[in-house]
Amino acid sequence: MPNCKVCGNNRNLKFYDVKERQLNKGETFKYCLCSKCGTLQLDQAVPNMEDYYGDAYYSFTMKSIRMQIPRFIIQPILFLSSKGFPKNGKCFRYLNKIVKISFSLYDTHKGFNSRILDVGGDGMLMSFLRKNGYKNVTCIDLFCKNSMYSNIKFINCSITDLDDDEKFDIITMNSSFEHMNNPHEVLNKVNQLLNNNGLCLIKIPIYGNEAWKRYKENWFQIDAPRHYFLYLPKAMRIMCEKHGLTVENILYYSGNKQFFISKMYKDSDMNFKEAIAAFNALPKREKVKYEKEAEFADKQKKGDVAWFYIKHKTQ
Ligand SMILES: [Zn+2]
Repeated sequence: MPNCKVCGNNRNLKFYDVKERQLNKGETFKYCLCSKCGTLQLDQAVPNMEDYYGDAYYSFTMKSIRMQIPRFIIQPILFLSSKGFPKNGKCFRYLNKIVKISFSLYDTHKGFNSRILDVGGDGMLMSFLRKNGYKNVTCIDLFCKNSMYSNIKFINCSITDLDDDEKFDIITMNSSFEHMNNPHEVLNKVNQLLNNNGLCLIKIPIYGNEAWKRYKENWFQIDAPRHYFLYLPKAMRIMCEKHGLTVENILYYSGNKQFFISKMYKDSDMNFKEAIAAFNALPKREKVKYEKEAEFADKQKKGDVAWFYIKHKTQ
């Protein structure tokens, strides 16, 4: 029997066959659910993992970000959001919708001079922050060879390749940690790279949520085989504690498409893009209904995406 790669448990494991839905060629991948830490994890080797990414993957995930909002509007929003405004959940969701990425630094209390490392992605997020006041930004990605954004430092490498002497005030992993098959090594490295009062922000899909309960292996955030691990908050805490870190806060922020796409996966053979297109074609009142459902799930801490605020453990 295999061992859980998060906590080492090998008892009462449950297995699921999950369909790949972006290329949608009918392939399925085996996932294993650990009864102890509650992590759903890819349970087979995928030697050709790069084949499941490619240019289309990056351009699709990034194209919705809006870069053209004037600096005199975006800068104050960035500043205020870093201080934790707005506190109101509805207002937060609304603003985040308009300026998609500004809230990646929400409530960090770090200023424009802070050293920021973004792990995973083609550099668009960092380029946006650089353009709007943040002076010291670096982006790294293992698969993306070059960044088209010339105003940032971009390195084609893994976080574990960085020198321990490099220090950062903020390390962000915006939907990238779940793509890494070595979470223990990565968190150990975060512990090395983070300044004493630094903050690591990890945004990941959360297992055990409402969408999982309803749709199980059709829950769209499994995204087989690209997502190696779907964690419970408990599993994140266990791993952080093991590597000198601690989870200070969890901010649930799930999207309005979680139930719709999962339902399409269950009821039809649609691929990811087709499911998105079907959602976009819905009448406005239907979309509002899904938005409210996501808001409600987040309030109950049952949304399927969350930001983890991670710091050094105080001795
Ligand atoms: Zn486990």
